[in-house]
Formats: sequence, C-alpha cells, structure tokens
Amino acid sequence: MSENRHTHSHSHGLVDRSIVRSHAGLRAVAISLAILAITAAAQVGIFLVSSSVALLADLIHNSGDALTAIPVGIAFFLRSFRAEKLAGLAVVLAIFVSACVALYETIMRFIHPQQLTHLWILAAAGAIGFIGNELAARVRLRAGKRLQSPALVADGNHARVDSYVSLGVVAAAIGVGLGVPIADPLIGLAITLVILKVTWDSWRLVATTEPGEAAEVRES
Ligand SMILES: [Zn+2]
Repeated sequence: MSENRHTHSHSHGLVDRSIVRSHAGLRAVAISLAILAITAAAQVGIFLVSSSVALLADLIHNSGDALTAIPVGIAFFLRSFRAEKLAGLAVVLAIFVSACVALYETIMRFIHPQQLTHLWILAAAGAIGFIGNELAARVRLRAGKRLQSPALVADGNHARVDSYVSLGVVAAAIGVGLGVPIADPLIGLAITLVILKVTWDSWRLVATTEPGEAAEVRES
C-alpha cells in the first residue's frame, strides 16, 4: 500500500532503513493476522457444529486480540517510534486483561465446576487454537526481534499466551475424559500463573527498550 506514497530514493540513509523496517513490520502484522483469521474461521466452523459456549468465548477473545495488532500496524505504517512505544503499552495492557479474565474464570471453576461436554470437539478446537496462535507468535517474535520492536515482541508474547490457553483446553478435555474433572480448574490456575509471568516480562521489555534503538547501533 505504502509504496505509492513515496517515490523510492536511492540514498542509503536513515529514511531508507526506516521504510524497510516499516514494510517488514507491516508484513509481520498482516501475516500473523491472516493466520489468526484462518484459525478463527476454523473455530467458527466447529462452533456452528457444536454450539459450545466455551468456544464462543475463545472466539470473542481472539477477535478482540486483532484489535491490539492494529495500533502496532499503524505505528509501523507511520514509522513512528513514539506510536510504537504506545502500541507496545496497549499490547501489555491486553495481556494483563487476559490474565485477569483467566484468573476470574479459574476461580469460578473452582467454585462452580463446569460440566465439560463435547470433549472431542473441545479438544479439536483447542488444538486448532494452539497451532494458529503458536504460528502467529513465531511470526511476530521473529520479526519483532529482527526489527528491535518491543511492541511486536509483546504482541508475539500475547499470541503465545493464547496458544497456552488453547493447549490448556486440550489438556482439560483429556483430563475430564479420563475422569479427573479437577484437572480443568488446576490447568486454568497454572495457565493464569504463566500469563501473569508473561505480562510482567512484556511490561519490563516495553518499558525499558526503545523501539529500533539497537538496530540503529548494529547497522551503522
Ligand atoms: Zn489474547
């Protein structure tokens, strides 16, 4: 899209590098969003067959996650480190909200154990969610590290957190299937602790690292 906005200059200065970085960042955001869209579409298919409420909640969550990719994408599009810094903070906030939701759900499951049904369907949806989020996480983490973008790395961490949540759904379905219903809230608790750790790590990263600063040093 942005190719049309500026004629290509042949100076090899700061502007060129920032355009390359902007394109690579936008590409990572677009690819990971496409992967997550395919994942969500597959889960919609399973939801239509099973009408599982748990799956619907996961779908809503994943759609909301797309919103955190938008400020990251805009920051790359504007080539603004300041916007990128703010986008990173928004991503960390989203991970923290995920942690709070997971904690709330886990507490509710200890108090009112949920009756898990459609175990195979649940496990299949969880497996799809795990694969999709893990792939999106890898795209974002790889590009985020290469482009020295704390916001993109944090967004990758978020996708990885969601892949753990999906894996937890698979494990809970197996646990309940084996006649160990306590596995469901226990797995939820373990995942909540992991999300809290990821929230903290992502906050530290975004708060202490300036976007692109290391890349400038390395390339000069
Ligand atoms: Zn999420």
